[in-house]
Amino acid sequence: MAKFIFVTGGVTSSLGKGILAASLAKLLQARGLRVTIQKFDPYINIDPGTMNPYEHGECYVTEDGAETDLDLGHYERFLGVYTSQANNVTTGKIYQEVINRERRGDYLGKTVQVIPHITDEIKRRMLLLGTSGQYDIILTEIGGTVGDIESLPFIEAIRQLKWKLPKEDYLVIHLTLVPYLASAKELKTKPTQHSVKELQSYGVNPHIIVCRTEHPLGNDRKIKIAEFCNVDYDSVIEALDAETIYDVPLYLKKEKLDQIVLNKFGYNDTPDTDLVQWNNFLQRLKFPKKEITIGLIGKYIELKDAYISIYESFIHAGAQNECKVNVERIHSEEINKNNVKSKLSHLDGIFVAPGFGQRGIDGKIVTIQYARENNIPFFGVCLGMQMAVIEFAKNILQLEDANSTEMKQNCKNPVIDMMQEQKTIVNMGGTMRLGAYNCHLYENTLAHKIYGETTITERHRHRYEFNSKYLQQYTDNGMIASGINPDSNLVEIVEIPSHKFFIGVQFHPELKSTILKPHPLFSEFVKACLS
Ligand code: GLN
Repeated sequence: MAKFIFVTGGVTSSLGKGILAASLAKLLQARGLRVTIQKFDPYINIDPGTMNPYEHGECYVTEDGAETDLDLGHYERFLGVYTSQANNVTTGKIYQEVINRERRGDYLGKTVQVIPHITDEIKRRMLLLGTSGQYDIILTEIGGTVGDIESLPFIEAIRQLKWKLPKEDYLVIHLTLVPYLASAKELKTKPTQHSVKELQSYGVNPHIIVCRTEHPLGNDRKIKIAEFCNVDYDSVIEALDAETIYDVPLYLKKEKLDQIVLNKFGYNDTPDTDLVQWNNFLQRLKFPKKEITIGLIGKYIELKDAYISIYESFIHAGAQNECKVNVERIHSEEINKNNVKSKLSHLDGIFVAPGFGQRGIDGKIVTIQYARENNIPFFGVCLGMQMAVIEFAKNILQLEDANSTEMKQNCKNPVIDMMQEQKTIVNMGGTMRLGAYNCHLYENTLAHKIYGETTITERHRHRYEFNSKYLQQYTDNGMIASGINPDSNLVEIVEIPSHKFFIGVQFHPELKSTILKPHPLFSEFVKACLS
């Protein structure tokens, strides 16, 4: 059985529990431990897959096809270790399981209740990854803020686990805010005291308190928090606002958070942290030698979380190329034939984002035409790739009424069409083509040059596909399919060989870019934009 760290949050949301969990996990991993992170979300949706990005930000997809919270993206990017279906649990999933059991009659006539039945199922799911033998430490992030009604069963489960797990395998970390009152010129610890008190009122005593703060806490305040909140002096950790999220592991290391955790767990002989590669990344990120501006054309640009993996991938790729990548977010609804030049001509490269539905489609097509005709590096992902296919059909193949059946069901030329297996599906949740599939790359193509391999694996999330009936026409006219699924023959990558850099991919490469292993598609795109 692994050891368990539970991370709760107090005072306010958006304190960065995900980044705290990922950063601590990184420090522990760097000491040679096998670590994973799971997230327990209090909402009733089975997963965020059916939620609007405005509601929930990006939906992150794992290798095994789970649609998950975007924090799992941070976990994978920091650790370079895949997560799975088991790493994201929601209240919806817990209740679904318990209700299914009730319908089967498994509870043998008992009244089914939050305690013990819901909390038992939560505990089972919390411990699941710990029994796999794959990990030494499991971090569990609890979504929401302590005191929310909906996260109470999760907190209660954590309380019960104190009695189930050996003392040296169980640790609770509470993340709070120590706000700075400008008028009083003072940091205030009261909200932290109250939030810990709230947690204690549910029977959970945190072992470590991590305090988000704009200014250094100072020793006196640390002592005050420790004494009021009943934790060891060394267990009040300052988490100073950082310039980038990648600084956070180093800040926490300075506060000896990893060492405190290891001491509490009774690990004596863990080598000191190897963060050489991490530091190299930070160095390249902070001191770039060049600078470019890439336009990200999408319809959820107002909300940074909606395309978080894409922004992160550009950061990784930029650091690799020692180049600052400015990503200019441009709303696709605001682009039309008359203004396209003034909106896009200053860009070094154009990226068209994934998405669903009709809104903003015309602007994407005009954008792609502009990139294609002006030899501007172009990279389209999922819907961005599909739009490139439609643009080519309209303007080069002269196919009348070319479209995707997602946008126009009875169009004359459905160059993008619903996948066969999707046609009989009625439920929306969890039914797209999801997760990792192999892709064969043809030699002497841009894709092959970028990856340097003939078989790759990438993650998917879509219902529509390139309609292969039109493939010959495309090939004859200068757009080729350079990547094909070897089993289903689905077109996964299109490119225009005569163009400087024009590539569209049906999958989501942004989901596999990590800090220490930037994705080659993003990296080479940045390189093309630089030249
Ligand atoms: N809406 C498109 C489809 O379902 C593209 C999806 C996406 O961009 N993730 O195929």
